[in-house]
Amino acid sequence: MTEKTSTGFSVTEIRKQFPVLEREVNGRPLVYMDNGATTHKPKAMTDAITAYYETINSNVHRGVHHLSQLATDAFELTREKLRAHLNAEHSYEVIFTKGTTDSINTIASSFADFVNEGDEIIISTLEHHSNIVPWQMMCARKKATLKVIPMDDRGVLDLEAYASLLSPKTKLVAFNHISNALGIINPVKEMTKMAHEVGAAVLVDGAQSMPHLKVDVRDLDVDFYAISAHKMYGPTGIGALYGKEEWLNKLPPYQGGGEMIATVTFEETTYADLPHKFEAGTPHIEGVIAWAASIDWMNEIGLENITTYEAELLAYGTEALSSVEGLQLYGTGPEKSALFSFNIEGLHPYDVGTLLDQLGIAVRTGHHCTQPLMNRLDVPGTIRASLAVYNTKDEIDQLVAALNRVIPMLR
Ligand code: PLP
Repeated sequence: MTEKTSTGFSVTEIRKQFPVLEREVNGRPLVYMDNGATTHKPKAMTDAITAYYETINSNVHRGVHHLSQLATDAFELTREKLRAHLNAEHSYEVIFTKGTTDSINTIASSFADFVNEGDEIIISTLEHHSNIVPWQMMCARKKATLKVIPMDDRGVLDLEAYASLLSPKTKLVAFNHISNALGIINPVKEMTKMAHEVGAAVLVDGAQSMPHLKVDVRDLDVDFYAISAHKMYGPTGIGALYGKEEWLNKLPPYQGGGEMIATVTFEETTYADLPHKFEAGTPHIEGVIAWAASIDWMNEIGLENITTYEAELLAYGTEALSSVEGLQLYGTGPEKSALFSFNIEGLHPYDVGTLLDQLGIAVRTGHHCTQPLMNRLDVPGTIRASLAVYNTKDEIDQLVAALNRVIPMLR
């Protein structure tokens, strides 16, 4: 199979960089379409983990010795690469966290100092539990109210309803850039501008956007942007929180411990400057360092090329899946990533997913950590095929063929 894209890069060459894509599952070549959960990793990234341990393993920011300096330099280089990748103004506006969930919890905890009884936090119907539960917890603690932006049947947020929810009581609005369950891309810039007009801060959950689009936090003007490395070809257990300097300086630290202090006595502690104020304890050093390799790898292909190629996969897949009898697609708004969330009339998503797995096709089934959204759609869950840059039209054909095979078996 050789697939050359209209943008000029060769998917065949890209796939060779992912050893796992050569394996079989249940005696069939793996067709991996669960990239929304986590992407596979290019060899450049896993090599960087090994190289770190084999050549410079040390703790960072602590030692004057040579290896610690090298590890610290490599660690800080990733911060600078992320700054450039996100177009943040300063590298100290990039805080390393465990991932998107941890980034959101950091703000939900620290921002609570700026929320009083009767204030309001707004989220959307499309949110992952990670962008619901931390705000519920904060609202319960502060006696604030959580409001939810509704959506239409295509999964498009209702901006008129959003406008009517916004008021001087709104302290923060949190929503995702791309919905993990439907693939809908939200109008971040417009929604942020609307929130700022009433003086509210904006946190965007960028877990699903980073693998697919160029994100420019300054152009979007968001106050906080939360991401996970593992969804963008990087390691698990590491992510980042972008925050505007002005906000990060005002917010109290999330956790106390080593690294995040300037001075400590038993009577009083003063905190370190940004970014260390928010980075208590020994960080996930190899994860941070290897993440840089994933970022370089994506930039070598080119983010615009990735977006263009994946748009082709989206168009091809939408057409191909429409031929499957009884298939209902969810998330049909005009702005979408290459993600297909669907059900087959009369069949449970879990049963379909299990049989697809027997044919070597990895999809996710269930509520996708978006139970309120599933309730809104009135379904127990969906089958989700979420694509990445190494997926091919040939694999989409295999998915369609597999569906046409398993549906009669379940009827
Ligand atoms: N937000 C969205 C939209 C997601 O898709 C996910 C993961 O699936 C998360 C948040 C949580 O990310 P993590 O588990 O990496 O913290």
